[in-house]
Amino acid sequence: MPVFFQSRAGRQCVSIVGLGITLWLLGALLQLDDSLVFFMTGFGEYGADKLVLALGIAGAMSFIYSVLRIADLRKETELRAAAQAKADWTATHDHLTKLPNRYAFERKILSRPIKDDEDQIEEWDENVTLFSVDLDGFKKVNDLVGHKGGDILLIEVARRICALGNADCVYRFGGDEFIIVAFALTAQREERFAKLLIQAVTRPIHIDGFAVEVGASVGYDRWAEGTEPLEDAAHRADLAMYEAKSRGPNHYFVFEPAMQDKVTERAALETRLRAAISSKAIKPFYQPLIDLKTGQLCGFEALARWISDDGVNIPPPVFIDIAEENGMITALFEDLLAQACSDALTWPDHVMLSFNVSPVQMEDRLLTSRILKVLAASRLPPQRLEVEITENALIQDPVVAAVILDELHAAGIQIALDDFGTGYSSLAQLARYHFDKIKIDKSFIATYRGDERQEKIVRAMLGLGRSLNIKTTAEGVEEHGQLAFLLQLGCDIGQGYLFGKAMPAAEAGIFISDRNASLASTA
Ligand code: C2E
Ligand code: CA
Ligand code: CA
Repeated sequence: MPVFFQSRAGRQCVSIVGLGITLWLLGALLQLDDSLVFFMTGFGEYGADKLVLALGIAGAMSFIYSVLRIADLRKETELRAAAQAKADWTATHDHLTKLPNRYAFERKILSRPIKDDEDQIEEWDENVTLFSVDLDGFKKVNDLVGHKGGDILLIEVARRICALGNADCVYRFGGDEFIIVAFALTAQREERFAKLLIQAVTRPIHIDGFAVEVGASVGYDRWAEGTEPLEDAAHRADLAMYEAKSRGPNHYFVFEPAMQDKVTERAALETRLRAAISSKAIKPFYQPLIDLKTGQLCGFEALARWISDDGVNIPPPVFIDIAEENGMITALFEDLLAQACSDALTWPDHVMLSFNVSPVQMEDRLLTSRILKVLAASRLPPQRLEVEITENALIQDPVVAAVILDELHAAGIQIALDDFGTGYSSLAQLARYHFDKIKIDKSFIATYRGDERQEKIVRAMLGLGRSLNIKTTAEGVEEHGQLAFLLQLGCDIGQGYLFGKAMPAAEAGIFISDRNASLASTA
């Protein structure tokens, strides 16, 4: 039925035409036409015939007018229907890839085929598996080939995913995240499909003369039809995808209940962390840094410590990670730095304060001004502060990182490259940026003995520091044997349990006086 006749105006038009025909038939049946002729001849001298003629002409004109209006109305109704269809498409599709979006996915649950059609019964009674795909390293591609290049990549990735299965069931959930609904896959085929997805996405894509590559993390799970909305299965597929992502690029996982427990625990910890930050329950502890040539204390590294209300010591990598992810890192950092600066003021002038800066903070253009503000408030000279950054912090956003390092240097703050040797571009970083110190990761110090290759690597790292005129610190010194080895190779500074673990501010004060006393007695 044409759209017009479905509208109110269309229905009214049909009713009026119907009523007119009925009246005409009734008039013909009751022979009203004869009465009309009688009326016209009987009252002709009073102009009755002219009145009927005028009414006839008025009727014809109204008819023509109505037809024209109806034509207009019909056109308007059709235009409105087309605009509605377009708006519907826009609301349910992603403009770039033309794939249906999250909203379309949510609506799909509502408009799921009703089981009265034989074909559809088969399709929906089979397994339904949801795959969640998230690209790895997409941000880097955007940096390399610009946003237009990034768009081309997303379109190509969408095309490749669609080519693997039913294009109708691939959704773009925003950013670089896709959801695929697949039917009737056995467990083996699900795994194969996950691998295929990774293979399809990771093949190089040519953009502006560059062969660009991205990775893919995939998670999946089955939909328990009838007992849950489709969205719940998509959520589980997402959790499995996050687990895959945490293992590095190009991994896939099927959902396991432990993943949900992990997320729930993490969410609870996040709430507690928020409270701990605002009540300043997280404190800096200080681990001594020893000048190996003189045996003197030359600094303390501030390490965050959080002992929760139930007395459990929560490891820094756990809560720092949550703070980074939830935007709490800046508040935590400023608080800890302020406490550490005021503690450092009580130490002798030659004792430096080393402070860790997390990779997320190296994307913050205001980092230097934040640090300088804390220093100014505490009156600690910038020359007594050293920030420790890891290689990972330099690869997130190298341009901003370079600006921050320059600003810190210009302010007189020292910079140490932390966990040296564990990142994936150590030498490139050394050539590119100016560091005052490199800290050899404790994993090398712990394992060098009995492993000739590790020993050679430690030697090479110390040699590198010497030839670049950068001081070296060895982390994780636990035994006298390690100390002797490092001394023999000319390492500048040592840090580790052999000298002392991280301790509260009060103990750090005692450590300073004890160390001075023992040095004086051996002198
Ligand atoms: P990191 O910067 O490499 O800190 C050194 C870690 O090695 C510390 O662990 C320290 O306790 C540990 N360590 C020191 N000497 C030895 C030793 O002889 N043997 C062994 N096995 N370990 C030793 P901690 O305090 O658990 O911190 C772990 C990581 O958490 C730090 O690694 C750092 O990346 C991060 N972190 C700690 N505090 C902060 C902070 O305030 N801000 C930021 N952004 N990160 C922090
Ligand atoms: Ca450190
Ligand atoms: Ca370290």
